[in-house]
Amino acid sequence: MQKNLYNLKNKLYLIKNNLRNSNPKYYLKSISDELSRLSPNLKEKLEHIDKNNVTANQIDSLLTETMPLLSDKEENNNNLSDIDIEELSSTPNKTIKYLKKFGIKSIYDLITHFPYKYDRLVVDINSNESVLKGILLKYDIVRTKSGKKMLQAFFKGQNNLYFYIIWLHFNKNYPLSLLKEGKKYCFYGVIQRFNSRPAIFHPEFINDSDINTVKPIYQLPKNIKKKYFYNLLNSALSKYLNMFEETLPAKVLNKYSYPNVSEALYVIHKPNIDENINALANKTHPAIERFIYEELLYLQLGLLTKKADYEKSKGIALNIKKQDLYSLKDFIPFPLTKSQKRVLAEIINDLNSTKQMNRLLQGDVGSGKTVIALIASVLTVRENHQVAIIAPTEVLAEQHYLNFIKYLEKSNIKIDLITGSTPKKEKSEIKEKTKSGVNGIIIGTHALIQEDILFKSLGLAVVDEQHRFGVIQRKLLMEKGYRPNMLLMTATPIPRSLALTFYGDLDISIIDEMPPGRKEVITKAYEEKDIEKVYEFVSRELKKGFKAYFIYPLISESEKIALKDATRNYEKLQNIFGRDIVGLLHGKLSANEKRELISSFKYGKIKVLVSTTVVEVGVDIKEATIMVIENAERFGLSQLHQLRGRIGRNEYQSYCLLVYNGKNLSEEARKRIEALVKCSDGFKISETDLELRGPGDFFGVKQSGLPDFKFSNIVRDLLILNRARKDALDILEDDPQLEKKENFIIKNTLLNRWSKKLELINIG
Ligand code: ADP
Ligand code: MG
Repeated sequence: MQKNLYNLKNKLYLIKNNLRNSNPKYYLKSISDELSRLSPNLKEKLEHIDKNNVTANQIDSLLTETMPLLSDKEENNNNLSDIDIEELSSTPNKTIKYLKKFGIKSIYDLITHFPYKYDRLVVDINSNESVLKGILLKYDIVRTKSGKKMLQAFFKGQNNLYFYIIWLHFNKNYPLSLLKEGKKYCFYGVIQRFNSRPAIFHPEFINDSDINTVKPIYQLPKNIKKKYFYNLLNSALSKYLNMFEETLPAKVLNKYSYPNVSEALYVIHKPNIDENINALANKTHPAIERFIYEELLYLQLGLLTKKADYEKSKGIALNIKKQDLYSLKDFIPFPLTKSQKRVLAEIINDLNSTKQMNRLLQGDVGSGKTVIALIASVLTVRENHQVAIIAPTEVLAEQHYLNFIKYLEKSNIKIDLITGSTPKKEKSEIKEKTKSGVNGIIIGTHALIQEDILFKSLGLAVVDEQHRFGVIQRKLLMEKGYRPNMLLMTATPIPRSLALTFYGDLDISIIDEMPPGRKEVITKAYEEKDIEKVYEFVSRELKKGFKAYFIYPLISESEKIALKDATRNYEKLQNIFGRDIVGLLHGKLSANEKRELISSFKYGKIKVLVSTTVVEVGVDIKEATIMVIENAERFGLSQLHQLRGRIGRNEYQSYCLLVYNGKNLSEEARKRIEALVKCSDGFKISETDLELRGPGDFFGVKQSGLPDFKFSNIVRDLLILNRARKDALDILEDDPQLEKKENFIIKNTLLNRWSKKLELINIG
């Protein structure tokens, strides 16, 4: 029975995909009895179809009706991602091996490997590229002016068009063995002039039958023969194109006039000569757009379903009242900014509700996120739950710890710090306290959630600099049986429109103003050869009593060499500024040594802090007003902005000095430095960063736990992304459980895609 159904479905696909060039009436008739027998709905639908004018929509509606009758198992048989490309070749061979290495492993991979450009093989010598067709009159090997050998062939084409074909690289096999005087040839290539006649250098030999067709060009590694690839692709297309699962409902296809999946694939791989190949090549053609849209639609549906899922899961509900907030004044030495008040209200709202909070707190470096985390922590602890604060580095964890202790010294809240370098004995004591609920706030690095630490009642987890953690940490906590309220904080502000869509599973709060009394940091760029000017400037500022950071990038992979480099610079700076006032912070120091050093920079005699890595961002030393970044060209834009955020934290004028190597400066690096000098708005900077780096890199997709994007580019496709977001919202609002028949395709595809990749959603 199932097997028959499966065939039925495939037949329907066949009909749909060949509406134009087959006789749909005939095929439909051949399965109509069986269809009618299956369900009364199908029967009725079938009766309504005008058999002489069958449309794709009508077939879709039959498909929608048939699909739920198929079991999952049958469905999987049809999964082209599971069919190995070896299937297409009778003998195992190297090319198949290379293709797999290149990432084309399954039939699905092969057919969704789209051309990056198209050649129109037409005779049009007035355009840039053209076909030239003619009889070979003669060919000679001649010497060019520079003495090099050149193969020069002369042809007679139609209408007395004489032309040359030239090879600068040739041998007795290619193309010499192919050339015969008096024989007819067709060539394709860029049209140039030679001896006052049209000419092509190193043309492509084409067949007569190729003329007036479009040739798709595919990105392939050198070791894969093009011809073999074309053959393989063609046999895949003829065998499997019709089995491609449609993943967009008819309603959606109609709405945007998208072709169905097989039509689209056909156009992409075998466009007609009159097809808009420019649109295909630059990915604005509906045949391509449907894949982009589809990918983004399911991303959004996935994120929104996940969000709905979080909201369903009951979290801890606090009972924070207005008067509880008054007493906070005892701890916080400054009034909150308007922005801070707003996000705090949003957070308290979440904390008081039974739904589990999943909130992303965005705010530029220095905008004051820590104090928000502190307040949320205090409110949670007061209602007898514990708080975990998770920071990306030990230094940051340490700093939060010291900060919290200082802020909360008048309270009776117990705070503990646990990191990789906490001694064993102390660690087990803290674990014991955490388990019995003696301490209120536990601060640490990610070791905090990875190790076997148990909480008595974990009410809130704050993840600082969440772009380095994220989904995975949340999952870990949930696996341990905790569903704490989650506050994720990030100082990498991403463009607003993107934030809403990309972090679609989170609620978002934004701090968009700086604490009062801050002066904008003055940023200047210096070439390395002018470094003396930088030293002079810093010397003057130090004499006025200010403090400076010197940051060096991790130039070498090897920690040892990097350290040597920093040490050398450190010694140099000691000679310039004075031995006793320069300190060196690096990864090899123990936690204690780091603590002492940072404390001495803040309160003591150290005036210049040299740091090797950029991991140590997030440190909050108000007294520092100078940030020198050497080899600035090696840092990413957001990194530079983060580093700059370390200064400008008091009422004095701060300076950020970027020192770059002018000799090997890449265009991109120049743009980064320029952007930083010109702009101090974190949102604008991140937009530029996104443009320069591209989304994959920017978001660190791998880290964020989101699927890779195969078709879309969320910067280029922002409009489509927003459209997909809106459609996803509409679909789920109308049918939250995706139970309606018209949404069957959606539900099925969503489950398939997300359950495999993330196992985070759980619908139906
Ligand atoms: P970030 O958002 O980068 O984590 P921090 O929380 O480290 O920023 O805050 C930066 C500095 O601003 C800290 O020294 C903090 O004490 C101070 N700060 C935060 N909020 C205010 C405020 N409302 N008024 C004055 N200073 C503030
Ligand atoms: Mg911070």
